[in-house]
Amino acid sequence: MIPKNLSTPCYVYDMALLRQTLDAIKSETAGHDNYHVHYAVKANANPEVLRCISAAGFGADCVSGGEIRAALDNGFPAKDIVFAGVGKADWEIELGLEAGIGLFNVESIPELEVINEIAGRMSRRADVCFRINPDVGAHTHANITTGLAENKFGIAMSDMEAVISAARQMDNVRFVGLHFHIGSQILDMEDFVALARRINQLQKQLEDEGITGVRVINVGGGLGIDYNYPDSNPIPKFHSYFQTYAKELQLRLEQELHFELGRAVVGQMGSLLTRVLYIKEGHVKRFAIVDAGFTDLIRPALYGAHHHIEKVEGCGEAQAHTPEEAPTTLLYDVVGPICESSDVFQKDCPLPPLRRGDLLAIRSAGAYGEIMASQYNCRALPGVFTINEE
Ligand SMILES: *Cc1c(COP(=O)(O)O)cnc(C)c1O
Repeated sequence: MIPKNLSTPCYVYDMALLRQTLDAIKSETAGHDNYHVHYAVKANANPEVLRCISAAGFGADCVSGGEIRAALDNGFPAKDIVFAGVGKADWEIELGLEAGIGLFNVESIPELEVINEIAGRMSRRADVCFRINPDVGAHTHANITTGLAENKFGIAMSDMEAVISAARQMDNVRFVGLHFHIGSQILDMEDFVALARRINQLQKQLEDEGITGVRVINVGGGLGIDYNYPDSNPIPKFHSYFQTYAKELQLRLEQELHFELGRAVVGQMGSLLTRVLYIKEGHVKRFAIVDAGFTDLIRPALYGAHHHIEKVEGCGEAQAHTPEEAPTTLLYDVVGPICESSDVFQKDCPLPPLRRGDLLAIRSAGAYGEIMASQYNCRALPGVFTINEE
């Protein structure tokens, strides 16, 4: 239950839904002992969320030293941590080596050289996968498409053999596999089919060149969620997702298949709760000015992302509507208080008539919400509370 005197804006996390989601992933991957799911910590690094995911036996996909620390502090075994990112600082590489993380996903030759050097100095050896750019375009927002040929991420396919042989010349790194990640919020399974087929082709190419010993194939994350209908589709399409890879990807004997799901794990379990501060009746538009802004949830401002918004009944400070005000639906631009015109959660959002004090839930905000919050305008960071009822 949501407490009546709740201080807003705040995130509410439905831990029961998170556990159901984790169970769904486990049941879809049961029977594939070689499948390993690493949760992409960047989607949500709330400690309680991380502990729930580590307790369910998942690994962690980290993109910074801070995330490695958060993963270690919240129950992920070091060996089940993988470390990706285009700009790993020396201290972050040292931290990963010191902790004994499972592997590094390497995105360039200069980075490989630095890892080799630091590992040598620390008398360690780093297992590395190369992030290869498969030139597979995901049908998603331009800012979250990462798999096209020219990109700050990853290594071009045409350089794949060269980086592998470079690694094999080095004493303190060991090449163990290939890493891919084509983008985020992908709902069309054809994109994953295209990636799987590309990987088949690259594996064959390597074998033709006499390069063997690829132990790990990592297909990244990117499975999307239903932002329009969070109640009808609280659990993402894990069956189609894992089946697509099971069917399309030709793994070799003893190869492990790694997944790095972020949004699909935590997206639907979170909502951002916000109160209506003012209703402003414009000449053509009607605004609901709320106490949350893009400092709390930046996805609409940053990507034009859609989040379903609904009124939470029975939680407003406002008086109940009198019967004369029959709750028809009105269209509101739901906007925040930040001094930027992009601070809009949704334009023309259909909602029952709103009053000052009404509580709104901005749904599907568990991923890339709290973790991207900022203090712009000297605002406080949003609060968080978790609901544990089954
Ligand atoms: C962001 C990211 C992920 C997770 O992406 P989702 O769309 O949240 O599943 C996985 N792997 C890498 C390398 C990433 O950068």
